[in-house]
Amino acid sequence: MIPGDSEIIDRTGLNRLVEVLAELGYRVIGPQLRDGAIVLDELASGAQLPDGWGVEAEPGRYRVRRRDDRAVFAHSAGPGSWKTFLHPPRRKIAGLTADLVDEHAAGPAYERTADPAYERTTDPADEAPKPYAFLGVRGCDLTAISVLGRVLDGAALPAAPPARRRGLFVVAVNCTEPGGVCFCASMGTGPSVSPGYDLALTEQVDEDGHRFVVDVGSDDGARVLTEVAPRAPATAAQVDAARTQVSAAADRMGRAMPEIDLRALLRDSRESPHWQEVASRCLTCGNCTMVCPTCFCTSVTDVTDVTGEHAERWEHWASCFELDFSYLHGGSVRQSGESRYRQWITHKLSTWYDQFGTSGCVGCGRCIAWCPAAIDLTEEVASLAALSGEVTDDALR
Ligand code: SF4
Ligand code: SF4
Repeated sequence: MIPGDSEIIDRTGLNRLVEVLAELGYRVIGPQLRDGAIVLDELASGAQLPDGWGVEAEPGRYRVRRRDDRAVFAHSAGPGSWKTFLHPPRRKIAGLTADLVDEHAAGPAYERTADPAYERTTDPADEAPKPYAFLGVRGCDLTAISVLGRVLDGAALPAAPPARRRGLFVVAVNCTEPGGVCFCASMGTGPSVSPGYDLALTEQVDEDGHRFVVDVGSDDGARVLTEVAPRAPATAAQVDAARTQVSAAADRMGRAMPEIDLRALLRDSRESPHWQEVASRCLTCGNCTMVCPTCFCTSVTDVTDVTGEHAERWEHWASCFELDFSYLHGGSVRQSGESRYRQWITHKLSTWYDQFGTSGCVGCGRCIAWCPAAIDLTEEVASLAALSGEVTDDALR
């Protein structure tokens, strides 16, 4: 078996794939149903995958629903993303211990116990790191992993231990069931996955049964798939059917980003009256930044224990919607909600290109579903464009 080959596995084979990855020493992360949402977490077995669960999503609303089939990957993005594992929400980056005995004789009272590379954390997984295998990565999220990697690798301090990114094994999923807030097709990130995966699944449920067309994307993928059974080579008809299914999904996206020069629009909309209108709805809660698979900002907090002998430095996710996020010499630079929303969307869709050479948005739709005020960035872009006179509302929607 070599990259480019396609095989067929059934539901039993999918469970076996999870087992094989675990046997090879991977920490397998995949979707599962918990607390009324499809979340991403470690899989003890393939039986934890969300068979027969779908999702209804629209601005400000997300609900899981029972499907009338046993499809495993027929759900759109949930509240969590792979960012949680590559760029953890909270991690210790340094520990400090007071040398009380030699406090005055030996110079500095505190010595840093973390190594200079900031690679030690309190997470036991980091003490004996296991590489991750991500199961069920959609096209939008595969692009997000790559965008985030580019951002983190370029950061002045490593924002996540490199080991967390090294050795990642990706089982991607070609999306055949886009959600109500998805717009990956208009961002060029889905519904089919781009190269960068080890294996890519296309799920098929029909009168002939439940199976997965598996495309081999790498030598590692070929080695893993060799261990999976039952398995058979995919016929040309099965591969064609899978490709047709995925192409059809592109026409069923819940939304689309207007086809205009987003960089120029945002750059030229700095003084648009629309920012005030958005601010009248936006709660500046920061939900959109927390669920976004590419938002990467962090802050640092120092804490001490009650004895005063130990201190720790923790890094945690931060949001450009926080008032303190832009605190500089006695005050916040962005005091109003309008300036903070403008900052977020302008960075995502325009200045991200200047910094990282790519869009900061992959069209996953999470920020739309999880915004308590139902603010939809595709709609806001359409309104900005209409106000700028570039295009009419009718042409945009
Ligand atoms: S756009 Fe929505 S999710 Fe984002 S800060 Fe405003 S209210 Fe919160
Ligand atoms: S901005 Fe919204 S749609 Fe774009 S990647 Fe982030 S969460 Fe997804």
